Amino acid sequence: MKINGIHHVSSIVGHAQRNLDQYAGVLGMRLVKKTLNFDDSSTYHFYYGNEDGSSNLLTTFPWNDAVDGKVGSGQVGITSLAVNVGTLDDWQARLNQFKLESTLSVKYGQKTLSFEDIDGLKYELVESDKLPNSKWEFNGVDKNHAIKGIERVTLFSRIPQTTIELFKTIFNYEVVSENDEAVLLQVSEDLGGTLEIIKEKVELGQQGVGTVHHLALSIDNGDEDAWVSKLQAAGYRPTEVKDRKYFRSIYFREKGGILIELATVKPGVLVDESEENLGSELLIPPHYEIIREEIEATIMPVTVREVDKLEGYGYRDMYEYNLLREKARLKEDLLALKNQKTLSAEDVYKISELKKAIIKVK
Ligand code: ZN
Repeated sequence: MKINGIHHVSSIVGHAQRNLDQYAGVLGMRLVKKTLNFDDSSTYHFYYGNEDGSSNLLTTFPWNDAVDGKVGSGQVGITSLAVNVGTLDDWQARLNQFKLESTLSVKYGQKTLSFEDIDGLKYELVESDKLPNSKWEFNGVDKNHAIKGIERVTLFSRIPQTTIELFKTIFNYEVVSENDEAVLLQVSEDLGGTLEIIKEKVELGQQGVGTVHHLALSIDNGDEDAWVSKLQAAGYRPTEVKDRKYFRSIYFREKGGILIELATVKPGVLVDESEENLGSELLIPPHYEIIREEIEATIMPVTVREVDKLEGYGYRDMYEYNLLREKARLKEDLLALKNQKTLSAEDVYKISELKKAIIKVK
């Protein structure tokens, strides 16, 4: 029974299209799964990864109307994404282009670029020499610059020493580096095999938009029940094993406040889509099939697209999206009429009708 490393990191974000534009458009990751929250059919669940979804994954729940959270203790504080050595200067220039501020530093001997996304989630890009092969390229992020997966996470625990003990004794992580502020733990040589725990007191976090919801660690298929027993024996209260379609999962809250999931390696994201089609369809969980039409008619339309700026997110669902499009179309018609050299009586009438229509569309 072993932990293989980080399986995925799931975060709460705001506008769904803005999240897609950032993670696919700016960061160049591949959307490998577009599905719905298992417990809320009006909320998307996006999975981002490498070209075949074999890397560890970033997943997001876009909750447009949720309150802003606060990154702090009881949460994953920072998620570090792995890129090739020698690419961080280019990354800093790219983030700048999209008005995302970033800072270069060196951490554990690795060149590191720290930034926050628009929702306030804290990220690092770190130069890593243990990158899996992935040829994915999108919107100007070529395969040499592409993010290959999650290198590590930084945990902000409410009781750091207890959290460190959990990872050492239950999950078999070893300390590979330690200073006054933090400890670096490792469970495997592979990408995602390390994590950092901050030892100092961090202000209390608050769940909401811009915070990590949970950290999932990878376990082997067949070990699920044994992990439940092991956690129970250690005084934790894990859930029963849940079928998440792409993996089987157990959840528990560790004593430092962080929600942890143990998720199996298999079956993985290729179970219901070919590599070529990953992320292209809205995959509705079976228990929502019965309301598929209603979902498709109302949920915010989203698309993976090439972008050169992050703006234009003034809608929350299909209804508002259509209204905005209608308004833009009416304005275009109005402008075209006004630009005519001479206006007939009919044109004047049309202009007044268009003006009225534009006021109505709100
Ligand atoms: Zn999860």
